[in-house]
Amino acid sequence: MSAEDRIHAYDRYIDSLFAAEDKALRSALSEMEREGVPAINVSASEGKLLSVLALSIGAKRILEIGTLGGYSAIWLARAMPEDGKLISLELNPHHADVARRNIERAGLAERVEIRVGPAAESLVALRAEGAESFDLVFIDADKDRYVDYLHHSLPLLRKGGLLLADNTLPDSVLTPEGDSGAKRYNTAAVAHPDLVSVIVPVLRTDGIDGLTVSVKRD
Ligand code: SAH
Ligand code: MG
Repeated sequence: MSAEDRIHAYDRYIDSLFAAEDKALRSALSEMEREGVPAINVSASEGKLLSVLALSIGAKRILEIGTLGGYSAIWLARAMPEDGKLISLELNPHHADVARRNIERAGLAERVEIRVGPAAESLVALRAEGAESFDLVFIDADKDRYVDYLHHSLPLLRKGGLLLADNTLPDSVLTPEGDSGAKRYNTAAVAHPDLVSVIVPVLRTDGIDGLTVSVKRD
């Protein structure tokens, strides 16, 4: 078996055993395709990883940066109790519309609020309105702004809360001279005195990627 085939086979094994998609998740993906929304959502097994992490800290308030069609939002919102709240920030109004419909169809409309606009501005607005702190922040929007999102969202995260960032193993990490927003994010997370961090490698249909997981210290 080629290395790539092995990655596919591992991915299929994990998905089929741990991350079976139900009707709402499957129809969210087909709706995205129908609406021309790019298929750059997390995989099913990564969605399951997000939900296990949210459950492990009893998350009741989650902040997502980068909604797309609401696929990861469904995994995260389902990991919260009925009175939980997910606020998801999205720049593209078409993506936000598709996501709202998908979330509605999944029966999660009460738990999820999507705010349209540049995430950096929405984060400033959240702080200005004195938003209650979040248990978990999931960064998954434009990679060049990941470090900004770290600095803007950290004051909104409770102590002991989780800061997660997706797509943090780009090729640029493989060479010392390589540079990318995600790589700068990893360096910033490791250097931050309030965070304890590691990358969890995750399987993708096109290879290996990473989720940077950080806990905010007490
Ligand atoms: N979390 C989603 C995938 C998000 S893809 C999932 O796994 O299902 C990245 C999203 O970030 C896209 O929908 C894109 O429109 C959005 N985005 C890009 N730049 C942004 C910005 N400056 N502010 C908010 N959202 C942005
Ligand atoms: Mg992603």
